[in-house]
Amino acid sequence: MTIHVIGAGVTGLSFAKASKDEVNILESCERLGGKALSYKVETSVGTFGFDVGGHWFHYQRSPAVLDILKGLDLKAHTRKAFVYLHEQFFKFPIQQSYIWHPDEKFVGTVKKELQMVNYDHEYTNYEEMLQQSYGLTLYDSFFKDYNSKMYGIQDLSVIGVGRFETIRNVRTNRNVTGYNGDFVYPTGDIGASGIPLFLADHLRINYNKKVKSINITNKTMNINNETESWDTIVSTMPLNSLIGMINDVDDHILALSKQLKFSKGMILNLGVKRTQLQGDMSWVYFPDPHLHFYRVGFYSNVESSLAPLGYCSMYVECSPLFFSNKEEALAIVPTIIKELIEIGFIGHADEIVTTKAIYLDHNYCLPDTSKTKVIHHYLESAGIYSIGRYGSWHWSSQHEDMQQAWDLANKLTLRNLTKTKKMTQQSLVTQPF
Ligand SMILES: Cc1cc2nc3c(=O)[nH]c(=O)nc-3n(C[C@H](O)[C@H](O)[C@H](O)COP(=O)(O)OP(=O)(O)OC[C@H]3O[C@@H](n4cnc5c(N)ncnc54)[C@H](O)[C@@H]3O)c2cc1C
Repeated sequence: MTIHVIGAGVTGLSFAKASKDEVNILESCERLGGKALSYKVETSVGTFGFDVGGHWFHYQRSPAVLDILKGLDLKAHTRKAFVYLHEQFFKFPIQQSYIWHPDEKFVGTVKKELQMVNYDHEYTNYEEMLQQSYGLTLYDSFFKDYNSKMYGIQDLSVIGVGRFETIRNVRTNRNVTGYNGDFVYPTGDIGASGIPLFLADHLRINYNKKVKSINITNKTMNINNETESWDTIVSTMPLNSLIGMINDVDDHILALSKQLKFSKGMILNLGVKRTQLQGDMSWVYFPDPHLHFYRVGFYSNVESSLAPLGYCSMYVECSPLFFSNKEEALAIVPTIIKELIEIGFIGHADEIVTTKAIYLDHNYCLPDTSKTKVIHHYLESAGIYSIGRYGSWHWSSQHEDMQQAWDLANKLTLRNLTKTKKMTQQSLVTQPF
């Protein structure tokens, strides 16, 4: 039985690699990798390597992914991350480094509030989780504005608390580093795409195959205007887009999918002359509501071969609070560059060798499990499994998506084996003696 896999990003590729069934990988683009793509830009001073923002590989809770990646040359790194608060750099996470703040009153209040945190508290929404976990002072000075800028939404109480929200937030002032304290990254100048390229080895991918519509009743799909039959689909495209392309979808499910919220994104990659301030930082968080970005990172501080000697390759994650489409996003690039110069991350505009802006239609999916549970149940009963960060509709990283793909591949293989066994037994029983 063939399983149709929509998407050749890390999730679809991991599924295909782990599956014992026959798979047909359909990828709408001419390249594999999805969001884990890398780009090389040749310039007069040498080659710069960029990803789609920081794509550092965390793997702590997913033993199976280490198995899938066995043989890939990955180098281990320790995070050197900072928070830029009140025009000063604090080591990340801020709930541990706030004690270095020059304002004693601020330090005293935060300390008191952190001591009162109740770690057993249950949360109904994201705003409540942040306030209860860090106290109101840290919430007001860092978490509120940073998260609003990242998600592109002012009212954080409309965001649910899903499986990954508490993992992503270090709810303690003790010496715990959090989920991204250590990470691995492909060695050499291949960038983050080293991972999907490795996963794709020995897999046959059908490029330029865009799934345009799906019919559940007839079990057919339209791929580039040709009709194909299907039995099982594993989709990694965004959940709301998937539902939108099912032409006989239930009205209630369609209505639910239209209520799912997500942020758009723009990553501004830059090849620049090194400045002293960049030091060996991995990345920096920016809560300041006036700045048009929420995080800036340095690929070449992690992997030096991603920029020529004396230069740096960096990324800027721009806030969707300031744009709602690609045109508006590109229009804020000059402002972002001005702000980077003001901070000191770029010496002067002349020191920018190259820029590459990447616009994202889907960046963060705002978790809303009361709706996504119903949608996933509906899809699965029709033989469609929607997985990965965008298919599941949660904030996962690559290792979590790969683990999910691995688990599903094993589940479906077992299901298909049981089905085949039952069919064989039935045909033996019905055979005449
Ligand atoms: C800015 C940013 C920073 C991130 N940073 C990190 C990080 O530091 N560490 C980390 O581990 N993770 C990070 N992630 C998350 C990581 O990118 C995702 O977890 C992972 O790439 C999701 O892979 P995926 O295969 O599920 O989806 P995608 O990568 O989106 O792949 C889906 C694929 O489906 C294809 N497709 C879509 N529609 C169709 C269609 N109709 N027909 C056929 N094909 C279709 C697309 O072309 C694409 O190739 C980051 C993500 C972003 C956006």
